[in-house]
Amino acid sequence: MSKMSPKDYIAREDKYGAHNYHPLPVVLEKGKGVRVWDVEGKEYFDFLSAYSAVNQGHCHPKIVKALTDQAEILTLTSRAFYNNILGEYEEFITKYFGYDKVLPMNTGAEADETALKLCRKWAYKVKGIKEDQAKIIVCEDNFHGRTITIVSMSTDPDSYGGFGPFTPGFVKIPYNNIEALEKELKDPNVAGFLLEPIQGEAGVFVPDEGFLKKAYDLCKKNNVLFIADEVQTGIARTGKMLACDHEGVRPDILILGKAVSGGVMPVSCVLADDEIMLTIKPGEHGSTFGGNPLACKVAIAALNVIKDEKLAENAEKMGKIFRDEMKAIKSEMIELVRGKGLLNAVVIRNKPGKTAWDVCMAMAEKGVLAKPTHGNIIRFAPPLVITEAELREAIGRIKEAFKQFE
Ligand code: PLP
Repeated sequence: MSKMSPKDYIAREDKYGAHNYHPLPVVLEKGKGVRVWDVEGKEYFDFLSAYSAVNQGHCHPKIVKALTDQAEILTLTSRAFYNNILGEYEEFITKYFGYDKVLPMNTGAEADETALKLCRKWAYKVKGIKEDQAKIIVCEDNFHGRTITIVSMSTDPDSYGGFGPFTPGFVKIPYNNIEALEKELKDPNVAGFLLEPIQGEAGVFVPDEGFLKKAYDLCKKNNVLFIADEVQTGIARTGKMLACDHEGVRPDILILGKAVSGGVMPVSCVLADDEIMLTIKPGEHGSTFGGNPLACKVAIAALNVIKDEKLAENAEKMGKIFRDEMKAIKSEMIELVRGKGLLNAVVIRNKPGKTAWDVCMAMAEKGVLAKPTHGNIIRFAPPLVITEAELREAIGRIKEAFKQFE
């Protein structure tokens, strides 16, 4: 067979795959650290990191070794039987994050669903809310995944449009609005407040300083669970292990995914203390693959890399350099630069022929991959292993791309 061109690969996906994504026309075949290569051998800096799953860098040798070692011994038992690895992982991750218990799942959406179920069970068994009356407060412009219940919480028509009827029991308030939260918390049927400590998909919206702490305190005052979806913000991405750590907040329910495995396989989980976690009994929740020995070994290795390589500290340092350099670019197209650690966004003033998509295409041409979100926002989130020299090289390329639009 003659060698396929990028166009051939794209046409094949287009023909045989569902059209539920709109990728940049780049066909990748290899990754190492902060770099990826396309099928023609062109090298790029990856400034998306698979939506912050690849925080430890592509194909980290220690994580890949954990995967291949365990893959030859035992991959999946289901939870019908015990295995010799799950307990090791459970002990490791609960001590790592400081919770009594963990409930392992696979994807971020599943972990969010798990948190919602836990919150409702707690509402009925512990808080004493009448059956089927529990409400959970969520934020406008949230992104928690793609299941029917999760899109029931969404305010984005692309997410929920055409997928009704929706799951009831959610109250939507504006993000970063303490007054709105305080008002809704007066309802005694409220069981939980679910939020992203920084809204990632919405375009890296960082709430006002103090918001998380105030929201947490209000939840405590009203006997309501503070539930943090740190699927995107967690695992060192924002310059601390968790984005909630910036304000010293310890969520009642912590939702993690993506970088728990360093992007090697789908691994997610929910962490909570016994009062919450033990409300779910055998047979009431689970997943065939959740907590499989392969995932457990991969996650232990991936989380060890975060601490061993001081990735939170690096994210904090590199993030400052990135934002300073982006703010220094003199371009009419840049409206705003915002973010925390290495989760950043540049808001583009879209004009015909000068959109965020056009900028991403120009950056790809220069060898930097990033993707627009919500039309005019470009998220910049490289693997956290990026060195200052690599970051400065990438910034140079980004600046060259912006120059083309002057
Ligand atoms: N929660 C947040 C905050 C996310 O950013 C995402 C994905 O981007 C999810 C949940 C869903 O994760 P997954 O795509 O693994 O289901």
